[in-house]
Amino acid sequence: MNILVLNSGSSTLKFQIIATDMDRIRGNTDEWLLRGEVEKIGGEAIVTVQKSDGLKQKIAASLRDVPAALDFVIRWVASNNSGITQISSAADIHAVGHRVVHGGERFTESAVITDEVLKEIESCIDLAPLHNPNSIKGILAGRDVFGHKIPQVAVFDTAFHHALPEHSYLYAIPYDLYLRYRIRRYGFHGTSYRYVAHRYRTLRNLTRQQTNIVALHLGNGCSAAAIRGGYSGTRSGDVDPAILSFIAAKEGLSHDEVETLLNNKSGLLGISCLTNDMRVLQCELTEHDNPRARLAIEIFCHRARKYIGAFLAVMGGADAIVFTGGIGENSSAIRARICEGFEWAGLALDEVKNKNAVGHEAVISREDSRLAAYVIPTDEELLIARDTVRCILGEPHPT
Ligand code: ADP
Repeated sequence: MNILVLNSGSSTLKFQIIATDMDRIRGNTDEWLLRGEVEKIGGEAIVTVQKSDGLKQKIAASLRDVPAALDFVIRWVASNNSGITQISSAADIHAVGHRVVHGGERFTESAVITDEVLKEIESCIDLAPLHNPNSIKGILAGRDVFGHKIPQVAVFDTAFHHALPEHSYLYAIPYDLYLRYRIRRYGFHGTSYRYVAHRYRTLRNLTRQQTNIVALHLGNGCSAAAIRGGYSGTRSGDVDPAILSFIAAKEGLSHDEVETLLNNKSGLLGISCLTNDMRVLQCELTEHDNPRARLAIEIFCHRARKYIGAFLAVMGGADAIVFTGGIGENSSAIRARICEGFEWAGLALDEVKNKNAVGHEAVISREDSRLAAYVIPTDEELLIARDTVRCILGEPHPT
């Protein structure tokens, strides 16, 4: 089956086409045919596509909205220009899998999208006002382009964390607020963690029950998860709540504006006043000894260390720390920095292995390390494609 995976943003549409089915899933022989992105939807858009032979191509097109962008992509894929022989019309796409950020408490696993499911995703907009409306746009675009005949599946980022225990998902705020508005910790990057946890246990030949790790997704957004018995434990990203109203009062900002400030102007960018790109910051530090770049990196690593420590404590120890996401997969310097001082927990990083682990799976701890460390590049799209196949065939989720 050729599965189209969509990740719809505010003015971007990321897509992949992956050929997979139950046999390929079992044999780990799924094949990706194409990946790409449409940027600047709503005006003069840029479509970037990359095929499995590694060739990249950029196409400019005027695309007014997400359905127009998707229609353009599918027409291009089906045309002779694409060179993708497996797809000669939209009918050669057999199903569409969507990344949906928030499934609230309702969705504990992926679901075939019916009108009712779509309504429930809409009802989660309150919980993810920045993300769920975009996912819905992607789903509607899928219906527009493919009609109702091609099944669509929603894969929820929050679903992996559904097994969080109550004492971990509840905030210590009046319980009534949880009951009335479902205010609780949901956990993010769940699709990434599910993939990474699955790869980890495949590499170590373990069952889900035996999977006890602290995983760090360090990309454009960062989080940490304690995964015990194969299920998720918690996540990071906190500020002192009093700061919100303090900033609002001092800067004359609305609550929405404070939220934008925390979402878009903070983190590495906020501290460095330069960029949110870790590569640039590392360059600034090594070449210009930029003190703000140093501080931003220091805070980043300090926070990561703090969460590893906290998670090790609540889990009663773990077997491994797993790094993923753009920074976690590629930056040996940041990984080394984060792992510094974890000798007490039994972690002994192997300097050479860590240096060599750039963008591929690797063990980066010494053989005698009591707490292991791994790099496992995430592949959320592959997991979405596989879930889409399982969902439409009614296959149970893997154990
Ligand atoms: P997302 O969380 O949006 O999926 P990614 O996981 O793709 O993002 O991470 C992108 C980020 O990873 C970039 O902004 C950059 O900061 C960081 N990154 C990518 N490659 C490197 C590298 N070689 N060294 C340090 N940081 C890197």
